[in-house]
Amino acid sequence: MNQNLFLTALLSVTLIAQAADQPWFRQSLVGLEVGPTGSQFGGSTNDTRFASRFSGRAIARAAKAAHAEYLVIWTREGDWAFYNSKLQPKPPGLGQRDVLREAVEEGRKLGLPIIAYCQVQSPSYTLHEHPDWCAVDKDGKPISGRVCYRSGYLDYMKTMVEEQLAYGIDGFHLDMVDQGFGPPYGCWCATCQKEFRAQHGRPMPKGVTWDEDWDRFMEFRYSASERFENALTAHIRRVNPHATVDYNYHGNPPFSWELGQRPVQHARNGDFVTGETGVWGFSALTVGLNAEFYRAATPGAPFQIAMQRGVRMYHDQTTRPLNDLRWELFTLLSHGGFATIVDKTAFDGWLDPLAYDRFGATFQEVHAKREHFGHQPVYEVGLYFSSRTRDWQGRVTPADYFQSFQGAHKAMVYEHVPWGVVLDENATLDTLKQFPVMMLPNVAILSTNEVALLRRYVDDGGHLIVTGLSGARGWRGETNSQSALTELIGARRVRELASTDNWIRFSSSERSPHGTRLASDLRTDWPFLVRGPAVVYEPTTATPAGDLLQPHRTALHAENRYLKDWPMSADSPVGPAVLLNRFGKGSVLTFAVSPDWATASDHHITETRKLLASAVRLLHPEPRISIEAPISVQAVVTDDPANRTLRVHFLGYNAPPQTTPAKDRPYVLPVPIEDAPLYRATLTLRDRPKRAKAFNPSTELRRSGHKIRLRVEDIHEVVTVPY
Ligand SMILES: [Zn+2]
Repeated sequence: MNQNLFLTALLSVTLIAQAADQPWFRQSLVGLEVGPTGSQFGGSTNDTRFASRFSGRAIARAAKAAHAEYLVIWTREGDWAFYNSKLQPKPPGLGQRDVLREAVEEGRKLGLPIIAYCQVQSPSYTLHEHPDWCAVDKDGKPISGRVCYRSGYLDYMKTMVEEQLAYGIDGFHLDMVDQGFGPPYGCWCATCQKEFRAQHGRPMPKGVTWDEDWDRFMEFRYSASERFENALTAHIRRVNPHATVDYNYHGNPPFSWELGQRPVQHARNGDFVTGETGVWGFSALTVGLNAEFYRAATPGAPFQIAMQRGVRMYHDQTTRPLNDLRWELFTLLSHGGFATIVDKTAFDGWLDPLAYDRFGATFQEVHAKREHFGHQPVYEVGLYFSSRTRDWQGRVTPADYFQSFQGAHKAMVYEHVPWGVVLDENATLDTLKQFPVMMLPNVAILSTNEVALLRRYVDDGGHLIVTGLSGARGWRGETNSQSALTELIGARRVRELASTDNWIRFSSSERSPHGTRLASDLRTDWPFLVRGPAVVYEPTTATPAGDLLQPHRTALHAENRYLKDWPMSADSPVGPAVLLNRFGKGSVLTFAVSPDWATASDHHITETRKLLASAVRLLHPEPRISIEAPISVQAVVTDDPANRTLRVHFLGYNAPPQTTPAKDRPYVLPVPIEDAPLYRATLTLRDRPKRAKAFNPSTELRRSGHKIRLRVEDIHEVVTVPY
């Protein structure tokens, strides 16, 4: 053996030894979660066929055969336990069998970590036994199915996790600590009232008051969930320090304060965070957004995303086409997460063999591509998300705020500008400095600390894009007399427009260089709709460009007979469209309108979206890499600095047209992906590439100068570029 080979061999032995010391979640990319279908709407002791074939042994074998690296097996749901519990009964169909015992024994033989899926929310059997643990609404009425997290339920759950830890499981997936998905809001039980008074020296508010008392009450709700999670995690670690804990997480859009989770506060209370994704509850586009959101909520830690086997919803007993599963899974892995596919068995516990064929094919491909995942993201734009704005500007209609954040994301994805997520709760100067450009998409509420942080970021050479109502609201959502960002924007706010059908126009005689550059791809002297909130500014230190035009208002508007959601045409100019302000070593580009909100709206025009991308390019003209590809193709760029290798992942989304839905016309869900797309893409690297290689033999790759031209025919491709 020559010395190099010897060193390589030694290195591999060391790496294997290190890998063996790592907990399962640090060395896994893909796993399965398996639970029975049938009792999600309530169980019955008469259903003896329910779960009768739900076998821990058969599931562990099927998971291993499909190349899963871990198995999450259901141990407890609202009505039933699937192991011998003293707290909750088993479904009669199981007879003497103990699914958890079977899974753990088989998992040990197969070298497959077994994680217990243990439901926490909606504990229907438990609440039937302990009605005093039920959450209570403001009128003192119990809220059916919801538990109070300050009740005796914590001790009950401690006993339940002890029971399951005794089987030798490798960890828990706890689903989940939430306080309901909408009204009525709780909990006004005697324990909560007493604790609130002890903490604040005053009674709880009598309902949703959106004042100082409600602020205290929201903190009190958040702390109830956090305390519960931390206490349960600590207990599990006391009993078995090697068992892992993760909580299902709903801190990201479209979820809001209602269910009692904040993006960061409730992501960090286990070993890693687990969130869900999928067309069924979110959208195809937000698959990648969810992954990056979970990363931002737990910087530096692994993060898990759960996707599902079914075409529409958990438990629907359908199986997605292979390419649809591949698209979602490789999107998640490209963004650096590890992923679990959720399989809900048949009513009797039978496993669909076609689904397992597809899991097997997908997971095998993951293993073949392993070395390409988990590297550092290369970002250009940070999308700033504010939980305070979600709570106090969004209030009971948070989707309006989310639309700006999601529209900014959509624009960056479609225009192939590499983006990441920044969260108000844990953002530091170092967080911001990962991004050459930061975007504030209608971040209405900014604290003095946040403004100071943004000032330092820009002062040190960062670039900021401000849209719509950013900085326009006070700490509890009240309208500020001036924007909190006045100095950064370099303009005085004159007024907000009451309309959302607002327009902008760049003139052919545009005098400012940034106005000319922003308008370079646009028809000039042409007003175009930028749906969303708008502000009239008067520049102080900023240079204005373009015109903001208010919409026409008709006699019908005055009589309240005009459909408010329908945009009207452009009327007269009322202020500048865009302002550019140099500040320290950096710059701030402010849109008087909301191209982010517009991009996610039903009245999205492509010029609006491209304007956001042009703004990024104006502020950051020489990116390390720029990408041209069809808008149906997403790109994720990563860097492996130790091996000096850039990677570009391409995800080709290829849903065929959908037909008219039977209800809610015209709102359609996409058809699952069947065919791989065929497309061209071009990479332009700032530093001339020495080599470049595509993973797929079918990909055509040509390198010339700073450019790499590709012709790809697949759902996922990864191009490696050493530097
Ligand atoms: Zn309570």
